[in-house]
Amino acid sequence: MSDIINTSSRASGQSVIGRDKDRVLSDDKPFEDMMARFDHAAELLGLDAGLYKVLRAPEKQIIVSIPINRDKGDVEVFTGYRVLYNTSRGPAKGGIRFDMRVTLDEVKALAAWMTWKCAVVNIPFGGAKGGVVCDPTALSLTELERITRRYTAALIDVIGPESDIPAPDVNTNERVMAWIMDTYSMHMRRSVTAVVTGKPIEMGGSLGRREATGRGCMIATREALQHLGMPVKGTRVAVQGFGNVGSVGADLMSKEGMTVIAISDNSAAIYNKKGVDITAALAWTREHRYLKGFPGGEPMGKNDLLTLDVDVLLPAAVENVINRNNAKDIKAKIICEGANGPTTAHADPILDEKGVFVIPDILANAGGVTVSYFEWVQNRGAYYWDEATVNERLARIIRNSFQDVLTLSTRHSVNMRTAAYMLAVDRVAAVHRLRGMYA
Ligand code: GLU
Repeated sequence: MSDIINTSSRASGQSVIGRDKDRVLSDDKPFEDMMARFDHAAELLGLDAGLYKVLRAPEKQIIVSIPINRDKGDVEVFTGYRVLYNTSRGPAKGGIRFDMRVTLDEVKALAAWMTWKCAVVNIPFGGAKGGVVCDPTALSLTELERITRRYTAALIDVIGPESDIPAPDVNTNERVMAWIMDTYSMHMRRSVTAVVTGKPIEMGGSLGRREATGRGCMIATREALQHLGMPVKGTRVAVQGFGNVGSVGADLMSKEGMTVIAISDNSAAIYNKKGVDITAALAWTREHRYLKGFPGGEPMGKNDLLTLDVDVLLPAAVENVINRNNAKDIKAKIICEGANGPTTAHADPILDEKGVFVIPDILANAGGVTVSYFEWVQNRGAYYWDEATVNERLARIIRNSFQDVLTLSTRHSVNMRTAAYMLAVDRVAAVHRLRGMYA
């Protein structure tokens, strides 16, 4: 905790200029939402005007065209993005998503969040994010492979183990990472494992990486329960999203003794007052892909899940699901943000008012990138750890980071999100001050 902030030594006396105090926040502009939180933290830190300008500008924004031959022979051109938000603390790090909703604005916000996330857990990476505008459900596996390889080739001078390291995100997985690693390695004329993380174990992936984000959510939730003096056993949880984060989070939380009373994915939401059998739900989705038809509970409205009377809500799907329209109806005492940006800036003060304890995304879901870091370290050292070591080191980092953020939040009487941003922005700013300005 050596670098926990002492704001008085930071304040330069110069006020932060150029800040758009009257910014009108909309509920679907992730970059504005990110900026609103950043601005607040910058203000509290007394960040000087020069650094403020530097930290609010993404370092590099790349847009590429991705032409591929469809299976039927016609040509289609997709659009891909990669944004490197800040690389002062180390190589850029962040996932790649395949989704129709991908926009440059969203990728910029996600890249900034990666920057703050890596800084909150104090791993030596900057932040990046990538996305391709496509509907993976409408593409064959070979088409997805061609998109991935062409996107990788277009970014061949950007990505690399020392410069920018992609990972899985929405609708991308180990197989996509294998294609990226192979394409990059073909260009480099040697096998470069450390260019991506979240790879299959057989080719240098880390044990525990697939479960890491959900595991981090469980650990952060356990810390929050302890802080609030709530028992773990019998804690009622609702989980939105049953992908890599939600399904693992639900599974590990129920194994800890919590009762997961509702789960959902794109196809359905399932409610069971006595607790959904998560092992059975996992078996169901392995066989049927989606939750629809799962017999382990009653179907419920997907949006109603968010406002259920529970102790813990784990939104683990997409952005903006807790917003100005439904924030006042949230009944959970704790929100653990498994997704990136599930709560809009508009919703923050409403949740504060209600006394909801929010574990912000840049802390709650940092388990994934933390084990990505472990994977990168293992690749570079060519020495692999057992799963218990990975899980134990992950738990230590999430627990310590939670306590660091909690300490700041108490010291400055701010919520956990603001405290996490303060910690992150201060760490990134400190490196900028030390490195100085290259001109
Ligand atoms: N996509 C994940 C995230 O948003 C993981 C990123 C990574 O491991 O680089 O944190």
